[in-house]
Amino acid sequence: MSETVYPVPAEIAANALIDNEKYLEMYQRSVSDPEGFWGEHGKRVDWIKPFTKVKNTSYDPHNVSIKWFEDGTLNVSANCVDRHVATRGDQPAIIWEGDDPSEHKVITYKELHHEVNKFANVLHACGVKKGDRVTIYLPMIPEAAYSMLACARIGAVHSIVFGGFSPDSLAQRISGCDSKVVITADEGLRGGRKVPLKANVDKAVAGLSVDKVVVVKRTGGDIAMKDGRDVWYHEEADRVSDHCEPVEMNAEDPLFILYTSGSTGQPKGVLHTTGGYLVYASMTHQYVFDYHDGEIYWCTADVGWVTGHSYIVYGPLANGATTLMFEGIPTYPSPSRFWDVCDKHKVNIFYTAPTAIRSLMGAGLEHVEKASLDTLRVLGTVGEPINPEAWNWYHDNIGKGRCPIVDTWWQTETGGILITPLPGATALKPGSATRPFFGVQPALVDAEGKILEGATEGNLVLLDSWPGQMRTVYGDHERFVQTYFSAYKGMYFSGDGCRRDEDGYYWITGRVDDVINVSGHRMGTAEVESSLVAHPKVSEAAVVGYPHDLKGQGIYVYVTLMAGEEPTDELKKELRDWVRKDIGPIASPDLIQFAPGLPKTRSGKIMRRILRKIAEDSFENLGDTSTLADPAVVDDLIDNRQNKH
Ligand code: ATP
Ligand code: MG
Repeated sequence: MSETVYPVPAEIAANALIDNEKYLEMYQRSVSDPEGFWGEHGKRVDWIKPFTKVKNTSYDPHNVSIKWFEDGTLNVSANCVDRHVATRGDQPAIIWEGDDPSEHKVITYKELHHEVNKFANVLHACGVKKGDRVTIYLPMIPEAAYSMLACARIGAVHSIVFGGFSPDSLAQRISGCDSKVVITADEGLRGGRKVPLKANVDKAVAGLSVDKVVVVKRTGGDIAMKDGRDVWYHEEADRVSDHCEPVEMNAEDPLFILYTSGSTGQPKGVLHTTGGYLVYASMTHQYVFDYHDGEIYWCTADVGWVTGHSYIVYGPLANGATTLMFEGIPTYPSPSRFWDVCDKHKVNIFYTAPTAIRSLMGAGLEHVEKASLDTLRVLGTVGEPINPEAWNWYHDNIGKGRCPIVDTWWQTETGGILITPLPGATALKPGSATRPFFGVQPALVDAEGKILEGATEGNLVLLDSWPGQMRTVYGDHERFVQTYFSAYKGMYFSGDGCRRDEDGYYWITGRVDDVINVSGHRMGTAEVESSLVAHPKVSEAAVVGYPHDLKGQGIYVYVTLMAGEEPTDELKKELRDWVRKDIGPIASPDLIQFAPGLPKTRSGKIMRRILRKIAEDSFENLGDTSTLADPAVVDDLIDNRQNKH
């Protein structure tokens, strides 16, 4: 992998919240004295009753229990909204950019306060009480943020389901947490196409005991309303007052339930609580993005993913930031959309996913060159390992060589970013998530759970808790213990493989389940994929193992070519030689399949478990495919699979 080092740029260093010296000092304190460190930083949020206890956590598999600030009380919506009204009431809280470039809206903190109070009262009117679960199935419109904060205001637990999910997946997630109320819109709008959200809800709730469906009008499309069950949000909002007192919540009361992306198996219903989550989301948002007052911050994720929860809504709003919310997709009306929006709203901090970067890279530079991008200061990525090739493209063409890239490693389960550079503190290496955030103690272990020292490779675990950690799998604590705490005693197992270099930098190598063993050599998927993506004709690549008589496992590679490239046998040979030269003969692909598209989760991650099944010829049992973005891709891959004989 690339070992070029990019030092902190001088202009960033001059103004940064945290420099390297401060990082080292704060990190040291955070792990040697977590009580003192978090006791102090816990005060960054407003407490109704201040906590006196800081940390009470156990990773003992017989008694896994995680509590932070357990005797404090607070309200998340008061922290994200009310406390900013006096000091920054007229500052934009949310800049909403519609799917259609002609539509946008600015919502100040004062207006946000009004909207959240209204929404909270509508939920009250629908019978929602503290502790009740509410499913939110909305497009990326401001009402998504209003409804989340409204739930938090009255102590209801929200469970957001991404608007791209089918009625079946939605039904599973509604019944999974027993929601009596569902919030949706008539239709969504993405890339110029309408998404039938309300019709999907009608199908999903058919066999369930849902009392109320609250419908936000987005497109005005023709939908059915069921008497007694369905209500229009705008009609209800007219009937209620715009004052709703925030409910006093215990730090450990649930804030939300959210399902993982489903890359490796059946999604897990992750439960996050109130106090620790908010402290961690807001602190990471401020320091990881070096957020300065008044800056325009844009995270392109959907609120249906944890990234949208922590880094569109809760983290930024707790910090009084201006957060941009985008309804559309990166390629509509053209692949220059992201860059146009950066210029239009003078975005300073931009946070996206490798999948978006790779696809925009594949679309060609002409889409970038029209934009000036001169307000950008810090860039970020999350979701998958970023191939150095894509990192360099992002750094050179979007950041114009002057913006640090924070490659943030974390999970739905972790609530916030765990391993990441800090813009003013960390010299960057393309493809590395670099160093742990404050209070985070990563370690690499072998298959037996022995901690490995120094520069090495192994399974990534965390040795101690941090405030944003998930507390349980909703309704299934045993699954929580089994999934994360049973593999290695006394440690949280992330499921990811990782390498640590001589500088103590961490490099995520892919999922542990995806590791390939070729003639006794263990290989992560990221390294081989990065090598392929570095080839000028390759846009994306996914690597899996398949049973091989001689080597144990052979390397099966799926390759998506750049627009306009021809899939030929000569190119296959060229790619084999390329990897052999780059990494070594051991990594040389045995079989290469050209694929117009790769199976991805709806959050854009490559689903290697499905590719592995295809490579093994076991198509009957593809596992849970409900989180697949485009099932047609799989049929094409099966039809064109490579013969092993
Ligand atoms: P499931 O747990 O259901 O299989 P998932 O793991 O994809 O789905 P998420 O919680 O959305 O669900 O994703 C977390 C995972 O994403 C991490 O465990 C890691 O594999 C990957 N990931 C996230 N950020 C990065 C990053 N910066 N570098 C490398 N990998 C990352
Ligand atoms: Mg996961």
